[in-house]
Amino acid sequence: MKIIEIFETMEYSPAPENPALALDWLKEHKSKFGLFINGKWCKAKSGKVFSTDNPASGKKLASISEAGKSDVDSAVRAAKLAFPKWKALSGHERARYLYALARQLQKHSRLFAVLETMDNGKTIRETRDIDIPLVIRHFYHHSGWAQLLESEFPEHMAIGPIGQIIPWNFPLLMLSWKVAPALAAGNTVVLKPAEYTSLTALLFAEICSQVGLPPGVFNLVTGPGQTGSLMVNHSDLKKIAFTGSTDVGRLIREATADTDKKLTLELGGKSPFIIFEDADLDSAIEGLVDAIWFNQGQVCCAGSRLLVQESVAEKVIDRLKRRMAKLRVGDPLDKSMDMGAIIAPIQKERIQNLVDQGKKEGAAIWQWEGKLPQNAEKKGDGCYFPPTLFTNVSPASIIAQTEIFGPVLVSMTFRTTDEAVMLANNSAYGLAASVWSENINQALHVAPKLKAGVVWINCTNQFDASVGFGGYRESGYGREGGHEGMFEYLKPKESGISKNQIRISGAKVKASATTALSLDRTAKLYIGGKQARPDSGYSLNVVNADGSLAGEIGDGNRKDIRNAVEAAHKASGWQSSTPHLRAQILYFLAENLETRAVEFKNRITQLTGVTEKQAALEVKTAVSRIFTYAALADKHEGLIHQPPMRGLALALNEPIGVLGLVCPDEAPLLSMLSMLLPAIAMGNSVVLVPSRPFALVATDFYQVLETSDVLSGVVNIVTGDSAKLGTVLAKHDDVAGLWVAGTKTECTEACKLSTGNMKIIWTNNGKQLDWFDNQQSEGREWMRRASQVKNVWIPYGE
Ligand code: NAD
Repeated sequence: MKIIEIFETMEYSPAPENPALALDWLKEHKSKFGLFINGKWCKAKSGKVFSTDNPASGKKLASISEAGKSDVDSAVRAAKLAFPKWKALSGHERARYLYALARQLQKHSRLFAVLETMDNGKTIRETRDIDIPLVIRHFYHHSGWAQLLESEFPEHMAIGPIGQIIPWNFPLLMLSWKVAPALAAGNTVVLKPAEYTSLTALLFAEICSQVGLPPGVFNLVTGPGQTGSLMVNHSDLKKIAFTGSTDVGRLIREATADTDKKLTLELGGKSPFIIFEDADLDSAIEGLVDAIWFNQGQVCCAGSRLLVQESVAEKVIDRLKRRMAKLRVGDPLDKSMDMGAIIAPIQKERIQNLVDQGKKEGAAIWQWEGKLPQNAEKKGDGCYFPPTLFTNVSPASIIAQTEIFGPVLVSMTFRTTDEAVMLANNSAYGLAASVWSENINQALHVAPKLKAGVVWINCTNQFDASVGFGGYRESGYGREGGHEGMFEYLKPKESGISKNQIRISGAKVKASATTALSLDRTAKLYIGGKQARPDSGYSLNVVNADGSLAGEIGDGNRKDIRNAVEAAHKASGWQSSTPHLRAQILYFLAENLETRAVEFKNRITQLTGVTEKQAALEVKTAVSRIFTYAALADKHEGLIHQPPMRGLALALNEPIGVLGLVCPDEAPLLSMLSMLLPAIAMGNSVVLVPSRPFALVATDFYQVLETSDVLSGVVNIVTGDSAKLGTVLAKHDDVAGLWVAGTKTECTEACKLSTGNMKIIWTNNGKQLDWFDNQQSEGREWMRRASQVKNVWIPYGE
């Protein structure tokens, strides 16, 4: 083609990246790979292998070992043995290893980029300019956290050997998000990459050898889901960090419910991309290209739901179609391609099925009409899918609700800001959101209202090692990256045994319902700021430590919990109230509790049988604890991250929403307040189930609440059989988080039953806490537990 013709057509010529480097590396290994365990390469004892193919051509790249049970056992054993020494290194020593890894990754970045493109099908433009630079940045950044660990996290320590399971869409990037913080914090790792994309993880293991990482610190087991499942069920792994689909996340949550394992889940999404009428429309359309056609739309936080203000909708859709027509889809190694291949035929089929579903549902489809490459190997259709747009989509339709995980955009319109927020939040997921408006006030007004872990203002798909990433709701919990991400790989240092031993009277609970008393002395439930009779109409006896009848409590049931949850949702004004106001109300609460200190002391003594001195100490500690949370209410502030861009990211600590609290029997006033206070200080509203035998302490306490200006519905108290009520809370999909301080069985049940909406859960796992111990039972750790971090990215400049 002549130069003049090129100027006229603006056609690109092919610009392929040379794959020789990666092919040589494969050849060097005879295209066969074992497992990396305890610093050595070994064959899988299972004897099984599977192949990894190039999605762009269908051609086999290599044979990979499939780790079975004894292989996973060996890898975990190696990680367990290596843990004490690795943890005992100084932060500086670990920092040097992470730095060395960053440097090696940097040196081999071209090989990594080409290999990733060949194994995954994503374009070289993305692996070269986005994935690999972010991986390198992650190791540099976490080398820094290793160096600063002792000074920045003095109250925390490493967890132990950790199992990490990652997906195929960002193979090396997901590895770095997991491995870098885990190692920086002093943990050792067993990692399983996705079965489609093991190659860059294998190359990374080689680099670990090159930098002399001590054997057993990083172990790599390759294989399918079953290999992951073996890790999940391994008792010596102290944490599972999982990124993948919400369905598998649920299975993992259930499988780990009766263990001590810490768990973080980074799951799927259906993220809204909101364009207001005052947005810079051309920028927004370029943003959309990045949001949904980046990595063929196989991105957990893809802006897959376009919400556009009605007044500009026609213009936006028209310009979008014109832009889509110009997208280049083809050989991923060609540097001028916008989109490469879909990971595997089965995924392409899944995308096609959902697209067919969209058509059946009556949405209008518009697809890119270019020529998709053929499969060079099999001479059939290549594993490519055309950029696709659906308009006229109903918000409840399957394509508007399901994560398609492909290059398919569904669009809807809105009229008002409130409607935009409502549509954006009309999803079970809550991973990310993108907001486009030239009016920064408008954008910053909307950002806190969106139920998403990340909000990008006038930008999209921004990631950085210093900025936490993770979801709300069914997108999972936990954060990866930044200061907030480090906590996921640490646990609080164990505190010593407190001087104040807890004694429980051992009062026998007589749980029979009775209506025998002539006068109705039943302490009622407390819902929406009012005392309420239980739906069942029944009450339960409460006895004193000496066996005499202390009174009666309402026998709450499912309907009472439902009413309480409804009331808690109506109290959303508490969430938007200022921390200063919440602090003032908490101080007032302390004042009012102290006024009735003698009454509470007597109640505790009579019910539990502890000495008067012990009961007085409990009340005094409770008052002090309220002061602590009044103090912390306006001090659990967020951070301003400074990613490498012209702009900043605000890490906001937000309340979780409606929290269910199931309180224990020991130290009934103090334990109840220790759970309640951080929750409400953070702005959550709660449904609280107090101790069954000592529930009268809670019903006395709502009288204190009534006099303390706590907004109606912020604290709702449902008495009754706490195990049963806990179960109802666990299953309730409008409860966003659940804390259970109960028996081992109750805790396990709560974990298992609450997977429906992926509640953020904390349990004591059946262990008795020392509620008098400030280190264990109050402070920032609890505030962190009561909050989730939202990162709002704000670029600036013209
Ligand atoms: P997947 O859940 O099928 O697999 C993820 C990983 O889990 C793979 O390594 C797989 O082998 C393993 N696995 C499968 N079954 C398992 C089991 N029963 N026990 C243990 N491990 C098991 O997901 P995928 O198809 O590989 O990835 C796509 C999904 O990942 C999408 O839903 C996407 O949104 C999500 N994702 C989320 C994030 C995030 O940060 N939130 C990032 C990337 C991808």
